[in-house]
Amino acid sequence: IKKLAVLTSGGDSPGMNAAIRSVVRTCAYHNIECLGVYRGYEGLIEGDFKPMDARSVKGIINKGGTILKSARSKEFRTVEGRQKAFKQVVDADIDGLVVVGGDGSFTGALIFNQEFDFPVMGIPGTIDNDIYGTSHTLGFDTALNTVVDAIDKIRDTASSHNRLFFVEVMGRDVGHIALNVGVAGGAEEILIPEEDLGLDRLVESLNRSRTSGKTSSIVIVAEGDKIGKNIFELKDYVDENMEGYDVRVSVLGHMQRGGAPSCFDRVLASRMGVKAVESLLDGETNYMVGLLDNKMELTPLDKAIKGKSKINLELLRVSDIMST
Ligand code: ATP
Repeated sequence: IKKLAVLTSGGDSPGMNAAIRSVVRTCAYHNIECLGVYRGYEGLIEGDFKPMDARSVKGIINKGGTILKSARSKEFRTVEGRQKAFKQVVDADIDGLVVVGGDGSFTGALIFNQEFDFPVMGIPGTIDNDIYGTSHTLGFDTALNTVVDAIDKIRDTASSHNRLFFVEVMGRDVGHIALNVGVAGGAEEILIPEEDLGLDRLVESLNRSRTSGKTSSIVIVAEGDKIGKNIFELKDYVDENMEGYDVRVSVLGHMQRGGAPSCFDRVLASRMGVKAVESLLDGETNYMVGLLDNKMELTPLDKAIKGKSKINLELLRVSDIMST
């Protein structure tokens, strides 16, 4: 292997820049060339490449987003699209590809490998933490800190006005973000897709905390929660079935994806980049690098895609006890 390429794909997450930096500098350290691919698989198809040396990634470890830009590419889902991408890769003498992204991006990488026997390595970049084979995806920790900050601010206004806030957080089909920020932000209840609390129990629990003397409450709702109502319908239902609270909704949205990566994510990105490049140099392919037991480990891409990341339900119990 003499030349590697790196791209970021799918939804962006804080720490992607730190990962790009790590991949580029690990290549420089091992005296191999590195190309940055712009706009994910779109750029791979179009040959939108830029040579990157160690100095080209200065000043980005602390930046959110991705300097290489991200994209969703319909064309890469077709054989013709991937053939174009392979031609670009061959023309540019690229010997291996590091893909920073989520399970969709890994699926694309795996298919690309199967069709053209081309070495690929994945780095899990998503705030949702929904990927098997790593305790933390890149950006998850930063998102948690961003959301907890927001909840603290909402709490200030909630307690000044006797308000009950429903706060919707990201996380797609899993409740990792909701569970963690719920505990850290002192939420009354946490609604996650993995556990259906039911509307009656929710109202019951809120009434209980009201009569126990609480003047404000925060309920964290994971965007993928399946209680059967969206957050605005939830608000209306509670409004109709509870007295004494002014009920409000706050949907945090895309701010959760932005911002400077936390110390944890910068360290994780640096470790993942080194592991990804060195694994390719060792002749490995079709793996995702991940953090398991505080070690960098490889998980086969197909397992990472199909496996389920485990939710820590102990946190639900901790939250219940804390909201006594
Ligand atoms: P996020 O978790 O943030 O959504 P992701 O990597 O899962 O990130 P996707 O939009 O699912 O995001 O996938 C990113 C890109 O990967 C797609 O736009 C497409 O180019 C490629 N891709 C996804 N699935 C496939 C597939 N089955 N075959 C080929 N390419 C795919």
